[in-house]
Amino acid sequence: MNITGQCHCGAIRFTATAQPERVFVCHCADCQVISGAPFRAVLPVPVDQVELQGVPKQYVKIAATGNRRVQAFCADCGTQLFATEADTPKTLNIRLGCINERAQLKPVLQVWRDSAMPWLHELDDVPAHRQGRDSPLAGNPSTPC
Ligand SMILES: [Zn+2]
Ligand SMILES: [Zn+2]
Repeated sequence: MNITGQCHCGAIRFTATAQPERVFVCHCADCQVISGAPFRAVLPVPVDQVELQGVPKQYVKIAATGNRRVQAFCADCGTQLFATEADTPKTLNIRLGCINERAQLKPVLQVWRDSAMPWLHELDDVPAHRQGRDSPLAGNPSTPC
């Protein structure tokens, strides 16, 4: 399928031809910290199938194994865009959150499940608002995030 995406401020945009059945979720501690979220979902796409407009800033993450991974993000708005091999990029693991078609991209695999937040599977039981937060317990209702 063809996908499109962009960072929050629009300085960086991309289009790609992707295989939707490759989406996975990573629960590792690095993904939690770097994404600022309980887990990260990505769609791996061969680098030659991605057309990128704009130049992301890069942070090279060194794993415990010594593996070096580029983490690419927008220097202006901070949106995370993709990760790839530090030396010779072959595959861009595009962050699901910046892909416009993300609702159609259901993960098929989870990795590092041992470090997943223990409450993830309980979210369906947590009170939910259809939009924003309208509970006085939730702080300023107009700026929830
Ligand atoms: Zn941006
Ligand atoms: Zn991870």
